[in-house]
Amino acid sequence: MHSKYYPDGLEPLDGFPLPVFVSKGGAARGRSVAQRAARTVAWLDQVVGMPETPPLFVVGPQDWNQVATIPLYGMPHVNDDRIVVGQEPAPFWASMTSAIIPLLDRGGLQRLHRVYGNPIYLGGFADLLVSHELTHLAHGQAWPDGPVAFWLRELAANLGLHGYVTDVEPAKKPHLETVFEATWATASHSHWPVRDLSRMADSLDGDGSNYVWFEFGLQVLAKRLWQIAGAGALKRVVHALRGPELDLPGALELLEALDPEVARSVRDWPRFAS
Ligand SMILES: [Zn+2]
Repeated sequence: MHSKYYPDGLEPLDGFPLPVFVSKGGAARGRSVAQRAARTVAWLDQVVGMPETPPLFVVGPQDWNQVATIPLYGMPHVNDDRIVVGQEPAPFWASMTSAIIPLLDRGGLQRLHRVYGNPIYLGGFADLLVSHELTHLAHGQAWPDGPVAFWLRELAANLGLHGYVTDVEPAKKPHLETVFEATWATASHSHWPVRDLSRMADSLDGDGSNYVWFEFGLQVLAKRLWQIAGAGALKRVVHALRGPELDLPGALELLEALDPEVARSVRDWPRFAS
């Protein structure tokens, strides 16, 4: 039923519980992403229940515009008929690295080198993001788009990502956590032109690094929520996003019930510590 999205030049990969298509020469990378996607779907299905999973596309720059719904190559995304992930290397992650390196203190930079090498290569972090995208499918699109829907959905997706890595691939935790913790530990938030949480959608303009800064902050909060409330946090947030829309006070009340410190961090955004 998804056949209209099988563009020319892509190759199917068999043997997965979801349809998978890769660019020519991208089978090894595609298989690795698809394996993580399959593990994530199984995990999410147990925790919050999953709808049918649409096809996964793991594509290089030459095929990106055929299947992607956002122009920035390498930015993973999902909607109800496709999951789109870039094939390595995605130059976008190098722009993110150049943006954050000058903001880090010595300790932060050393932590990054220890986990991601020298020069810093964020591939090991980016590889995990398919789990974030799949969590977006779990919460669905019941709410109309709006500022609160935008960041609460991203927080939910980061909770799914954090929970999946913690429960299923704990050896990957340093790859997941080091970059967002080191970035958020800097006091250099004023570097970013868009900083208000209510304007997160506007941060997608430009090279994508401002948007990733928002995601990193929400990952700090997701980690905190998971430590405090575990899978219960994911269940509560996903359940809320499947129900009637909440306004800002309603969303804060939801977080308050899980962890008052996270609710306070949202109010104080971006002035909270990792
Ligand atoms: Zn997202």
